[in-house]
Amino acid sequence: MIVNKIKLIKLHHILKQINKLAPRMRKLTDEELKNQTQYFRKQLKAGKTVDDILPEAYATMREADYRILGEFPYDVQVLGAIVLNEGAIAEMKTGEGKTLTATMPLYLNAIAGKGAMLVTTSDYLAGRDEEDLAPVYQWMGLTVSTGFLKGEEKDTAAKKRERYNSDIVYTTASSLAFDYLFNNLATNEAEQYLRPFNYVVIDEVDDVLLDEAETPFVVSSSPSLQSNLYGLADRFVKLLVPKRDYRFKQDEKIFWLTYNGVKKAEKYFRVDNLFALKNRELYRHIILALSAYLTMKKGHDYLVVKDKVVLLDETDGRLKNGVQVGTGLHQAVETKENVKLTNMQKTAASITFPALFSLFKKVSGMSGTAKVDENEFIETYGLKVIQIPTRKPVIRKDYPDIVYLTIADKLMAAIGETIRLHEQGRPVLLVAGSVENSEIISELLLNDGIAHNVLNAFNAAKEAAIIKEAGQEGAVTVATNMAGRGTDIKLGKGIKEKGGLAVIGTEMLSPRVKLQLAGRAGRQGDPGTSRFYVSLEDSYIAKASTNRQKRHFRHLIKKKEGGKNIVKLHNPITKLGLYQLQTRVASNGTEARMRTNKYQIALNIQTRHFYKKRKELISIKDLQSVVDRIINDVLDIYLNSKKEWSYLDLREFLNTHVTYKELEIPKNLNLNNQSEIKKYLIKETKKVLKQHKKALINKKQLNDFYHQVILASLDRSWIDQVDYLNNLQIYASAWSFSGRDADYIQQSFAYDSFSLFWDKVKCDCFDKLMLSQIKINDKGQLIVVFN
Ligand code: ADP
Ligand code: MG
Repeated sequence: MIVNKIKLIKLHHILKQINKLAPRMRKLTDEELKNQTQYFRKQLKAGKTVDDILPEAYATMREADYRILGEFPYDVQVLGAIVLNEGAIAEMKTGEGKTLTATMPLYLNAIAGKGAMLVTTSDYLAGRDEEDLAPVYQWMGLTVSTGFLKGEEKDTAAKKRERYNSDIVYTTASSLAFDYLFNNLATNEAEQYLRPFNYVVIDEVDDVLLDEAETPFVVSSSPSLQSNLYGLADRFVKLLVPKRDYRFKQDEKIFWLTYNGVKKAEKYFRVDNLFALKNRELYRHIILALSAYLTMKKGHDYLVVKDKVVLLDETDGRLKNGVQVGTGLHQAVETKENVKLTNMQKTAASITFPALFSLFKKVSGMSGTAKVDENEFIETYGLKVIQIPTRKPVIRKDYPDIVYLTIADKLMAAIGETIRLHEQGRPVLLVAGSVENSEIISELLLNDGIAHNVLNAFNAAKEAAIIKEAGQEGAVTVATNMAGRGTDIKLGKGIKEKGGLAVIGTEMLSPRVKLQLAGRAGRQGDPGTSRFYVSLEDSYIAKASTNRQKRHFRHLIKKKEGGKNIVKLHNPITKLGLYQLQTRVASNGTEARMRTNKYQIALNIQTRHFYKKRKELISIKDLQSVVDRIINDVLDIYLNSKKEWSYLDLREFLNTHVTYKELEIPKNLNLNNQSEIKKYLIKETKKVLKQHKKALINKKQLNDFYHQVILASLDRSWIDQVDYLNNLQIYASAWSFSGRDADYIQQSFAYDSFSLFWDKVKCDCFDKLMLSQIKINDKGQLIVVFN
């Protein structure tokens, strides 16, 4: 609190400087104001820093916002803008105008020409903000674009490059993640389109960095063999008895086979040791099938739509099209649901949002609710949170939760309250805990003849339009948790006098999500209320409560069924228990995220290293020396792998790795002398390369050939490596229950595999260099047939 106050005093100091410049900016002609951009550019070139020019640049942009958009950023918005330039998170409440706030730091950080990005949660929001703000950026002489293509036309690398080269780019975290992955998988420079990441403002930063952080984005490559193990494992896990054959800790979503379960598996699949290396695929599939049963709940984690499994974003009920949970879990869920399996694909590349954003030189964010999770922002991302005061005091009333015994009681009460408020003419936002519940609530409202809109996964496209209407007289809007976030609910005429928007929650939620929902009411000093109706049967409570609490709750519910009709709970001990639960729900999420992050560390380091190397190789104009080095290294690897070499060994090596032709090995070759063998082998490899050269017309084609060989080997090996690391994650969860330090084992396996990785790439290159067939077709194109 105090730290925040001191920080604000410092911010106010800078604000004063900016305010002082305002009258001077107002007097400038349009031309003069526009010329400021050139002037700042010169100053940066002359050695001034972005921080040096901040006051004048912000004063300039503020005036431009006023002239072009008709909105002059308020003082509190300027305070937020200063925080954003510092690479921190500005907490600004809903409706305070975060969109306009971002124009100042984006302008400032884009002046130098290295790019500035604004990342938000949906295509709709990114597109809307870009469209609304483009006029002011363009007026100031900067280019601006969305990160994705808006129309239906076909996208190309050239178009993408043009978009990403804009000074300011508005985009979503997921399209940036996919573009990043594909950019890295491109086989040549012409197909790459991203420049190094410079500065980013993440809008709704808690949503992006905390809520979505766990799901890795995955780009898959060529299908690998479809496994029939899914079906077998699925049938097997159906036979398992909870507790006896496996244990499941619901809180942490972890589970493992007991001794009994392992024995059962060995008997069922007729293997003598489930943990033997040769059975690792089998073991992996059993774990996947169990995971599909225990941790993936239909209607909550996924839906089955037209015979397809589609993942749900748990927090807002939106469909996550195109996102597969990695490593075969998707297929395991498909097997469980009896739908056709999508092709099992190998993971070619994957990245999580935290890893993606760590690539930016400066990261900042804004959100209405970030302070409650500040510790996590600091620990995991090094991002501080500064609370910016609201322009007008918040007069919204947040009423305490009301606790009911059963879901039915709770919903009836929430709906009763909705009807009461609706009759007073107040708009109501009724929040459902899941897609399923939103449908139930909708039915109940219909029964009472209340017209209403429903926002859930099935009509995401209309979200914004519906939300805009949500503040009108008597409007009732049913929505899943964060649906329609980012769109302001403006109050209709006369609603203020009636008491403003009422937010009614129907599920126990973490404090942050609760605040977010409540914050949809009472913007810019408007009146409003929030109230949450929870029940002891809510899924969060089931997930988080201790056994003792569960017994207590069950007891209470039984009492009710026994005729004693308690509906509402007043008992302070029960209430305290619930409060503790809430904190536990929140911290469970934190732990899961930290775990994923740890698993990701090895992958991230290797990924970065790999792509850097790959990029270097792509840009080398003459690859002959690289090829010579590869040949030299690979010969060393093979020669060192054996103590003694016989003629037979040598012949076998030549025929499997160098040429399919019969070679006469000189009789006088001294096999006890490694360097002599190496000399001989180098001579033979040179002969093969010379043969290739003959087939080629010129040096450029030879270089193209090298290029293709190296890239093919790199990518092939990398796909295997990522796949290996992903599988490692699954084994690690089993190790941790055999009493070993899973993190340690995983890290050391990951490390070892990476040092072997480069050798593997080289060996693969070697084989391709030697054994490929080269043809030139009648169009003069180079055709390489790899061995
Ligand atoms: P937030 O993202 O913080 O919830 P928005 O950026 O969506 O808020 O802005 C809410 C509304 O306030 C928008 O309609 C916007 O045009 C308006 N607004 C923001 N800043 C100003 C300003 N300085 N002057 C007038 N209107 C503003
Ligand atoms: Mg916003």
